[in-house]
Amino acid sequence: MGDQKRMLGAVDIGGTKIAVGAVREDGTILDRLECPTDAEMGFDHAMRRIVEMFRALTAGGFQFEGIGVGCPGPLNPITGIIGDVGTLPGWQGGNLVAELQSGLGLPVVVENDADAAAVGEARWGTAPTNGTFFYVTISTGIGSGMLLSGQLYRGVDGAHPEIGHQVLDNSGPPCYCGARGCWESLASGPAMVSWMQEQGHELPAVTAGEICDRARRGDPLALKAVEREGYYLGLGLANVITMFAPDRIALGGGVMKSSSLFMDTASAVIRKICTQVPAEKTRLCLASVGEDVGLLGAAQAWILRNHFSASLPQELAKSAAMERGGK
Ligand SMILES: [Zn+2]
Repeated sequence: MGDQKRMLGAVDIGGTKIAVGAVREDGTILDRLECPTDAEMGFDHAMRRIVEMFRALTAGGFQFEGIGVGCPGPLNPITGIIGDVGTLPGWQGGNLVAELQSGLGLPVVVENDADAAAVGEARWGTAPTNGTFFYVTISTGIGSGMLLSGQLYRGVDGAHPEIGHQVLDNSGPPCYCGARGCWESLASGPAMVSWMQEQGHELPAVTAGEICDRARRGDPLALKAVEREGYYLGLGLANVITMFAPDRIALGGGVMKSSSLFMDTASAVIRKICTQVPAEKTRLCLASVGEDVGLLGAAQAWILRNHFSASLPQELAKSAAMERGGK
């Protein structure tokens, strides 16, 4: 078997589908397979399907150096244990690293999906950087990943910060996180829909995308919804810029497909508020890797963890090795 077939395995676990892929270190996806997540069938069932998909790829001639996995959080990136994930009910306590390592006989690393997307975008997006970089995805929720000097930022015990739940208006709408008026409750896709419904707009089963379409056609209330989206998008980004003065922020997710409707407003908010940092030097751009960011990010998470040891603080790496029964 030639070296050209030796590559990284990538797994992108989402609420609706699971994708696995064979990824070359240069970011080329040579083959991929998908199946529905069917979260209600349980964690073990999903793990068996992932193992089967990799067996099919291996039968096709691929040899894997290791497997990188991106999965919605909360998730412990060191132990691989899944927390109480809203889109994966019943999976709590499942150990991705242990199950996939024993099923595949290969080393496995896992990352929160937003962190995986962040490293994928920072490496393979149109604006690669080794500086301070944020990836923010605005869709049904607001997620983010942060890189410092090209390495993932991790909180205490490897925790993943949740800037989507920063509070912007303490008298705002309630969020499942327990806060009122957090960024996600004000600027996610469902937040746009809720606001429209509160205004008494007769829109059965409307989506954020449809609101944006209506705004393009000149619907006055939809235009207000879009203006409001731009304002809160800008406010959350302004906080990030004031607190971290990053080099770059890449914006992805379904809501950003209509970015031309609200980026001017968001930029105006940032210019007005961020007077204490050189905000004009922070480059705001749209995420460019696209649909494959989950697989490419999972592969890049593997590369960072295995080829650049600084991606895990030493004490975390040590405890990870102990958790995995290593030396
Ligand atoms: Zn929240």
